[in-house]
Amino acid sequence: MDGSSNHNSDPNPAHIVLIPFMAQGHMIPMVDVARLLASSGALVTFITTPVNAARIRPIIDRIENSHLPVRFVQLPFPSADAGLPAGCENVDLISSPDLFKPFMEALSLFGEQVKLYLTATNQTVVPAGCIIFDSMNSWVGAVAESLGIPHIIFYGPSCFYILCSHLLKKHQVLESIDDDYELFKVPELPEPVEVMKAQVMRWMDRPGWEKVSKEFYKTEKSACGIVMNTFEELEKSGLDKFRKEIGKKVWPIGPLSLANKDLDSKAMRGKASSIDTGLLLSWLDSKAPNSVMFVSFGSLSRNPISLLVQIGQGLESASSSQLSFIWVVKEADKSEEVENWLSKFEERTKGRGMVIRGWAPQAMILGHMAVGGFMTHCGWNSTLEAIAAGVVMATWPRFGDQFVNERLVVDVLRIGVAVGAKVPIFFVDDMSEEALVKGEEVRKVVEKVMTGGEEGEERRKRAKEFAKKARKAMEEGGSSFENLKRIIQFAKGENKHLE
Ligand code: UDP
Repeated sequence: MDGSSNHNSDPNPAHIVLIPFMAQGHMIPMVDVARLLASSGALVTFITTPVNAARIRPIIDRIENSHLPVRFVQLPFPSADAGLPAGCENVDLISSPDLFKPFMEALSLFGEQVKLYLTATNQTVVPAGCIIFDSMNSWVGAVAESLGIPHIIFYGPSCFYILCSHLLKKHQVLESIDDDYELFKVPELPEPVEVMKAQVMRWMDRPGWEKVSKEFYKTEKSACGIVMNTFEELEKSGLDKFRKEIGKKVWPIGPLSLANKDLDSKAMRGKASSIDTGLLLSWLDSKAPNSVMFVSFGSLSRNPISLLVQIGQGLESASSSQLSFIWVVKEADKSEEVENWLSKFEERTKGRGMVIRGWAPQAMILGHMAVGGFMTHCGWNSTLEAIAAGVVMATWPRFGDQFVNERLVVDVLRIGVAVGAKVPIFFVDDMSEEALVKGEEVRKVVEKVMTGGEEGEERRKRAKEFAKKARKAMEEGGSSFENLKRIIQFAKGENKHLE
């Protein structure tokens, strides 16, 4: 299912509108959904804003040049109307936690523009057969209903996390727990795991977010179905349980990163790479298979200098004979102090370590045979990209769904080792002594993931098996491939019962 498939051969194509949430971890998989749907014969309209479109410009150009029927539409984002600085059109551009609320308000206002746009285009082109929208854009529910367009939610996190959140709410578990750091079991989970309240509290269930939360559940109720970036063979029991709980069709169509087959598409995912990909590849080519640890914490997590130093110490002191590493340090974490420390660190680790400042071509790196470990914050995209590549994880969750994803990776799938983080951190200001993982812990986990003896071998074997299943799910006749076809049929009105 890539750009070479049978697009344009259907005389009566489905028209599907995609509305991603404006954060890298949400935009990237939705671009993959666009590519997959268009490759399978649907007409796709992808709605975003100018700043976000500019970021994914290389991939837009590539999709347009391959004549896939995806129309990228840019509508102005009402930042100023919601009291945001101009150009603040993505969560990673929010400079302080106080601006998250205005950002969500701006999104609702953006909904009015989307409605006007869809009303106008529905009269001029093939009317939209359905809207697939990110669950964070729950304002789409009301817009779609007012226009009479069926709507399907795209859940970005793992099914395991969505199911946990659902069960915690159903049993009102958090309401009865006082201690934020007491371990408890999530009830009714097919594969039981233990978590802490502080790790699973959702921002929208906190005081002050009642309106957003109400709209979220209302839209979940009115949606025709749910699309997820996962695959049946990975989360079978969770998916079955969630289907029963929610009483709707749930279609896993991932791992979406596998929609990018060639190196260029992988290298362009999300944003332009901050490093020359040719240089990066020759560096990786010079390393032995499974000898490189890739260290990156997604697009939103921040690492203050105190944390960077511990990560650096752990990587530097890890004593596997052939261990190398690639470490991504985000633009937002850079400062003079960081740069001073980092340049000395680079000197000391020359040859075995590479630091990428800014944006790394992650899917490309994970897919290289030299990469044997991934220290990750357990964002679901990163987690699933590691699974699709058969790479063992060192898990270091920060916030949101990440602690629950860690449990899935470490306790259920058994393809990762926990660094031992307990306390959530989001913005740098949240960094406390308790949240600081020490360099010594980092070293131990790196060594365990990269070597780890017989246990380590078993872990790697399991990871490789999941990668095989992931590829199969996306191939013609595979579970995710078939689900994608069902969605297209639904959008054409041929599958109203959502088989
Ligand atoms: N990503 C990337 N290069 C980077 C950082 C992130 O390509 O330097 C991609 C990564 O491959 C993934 C997404 O950005 O697709 C991050 O999503 P995830 O759910 O892992 O975490 P979030 O950024 O939402 O916390």
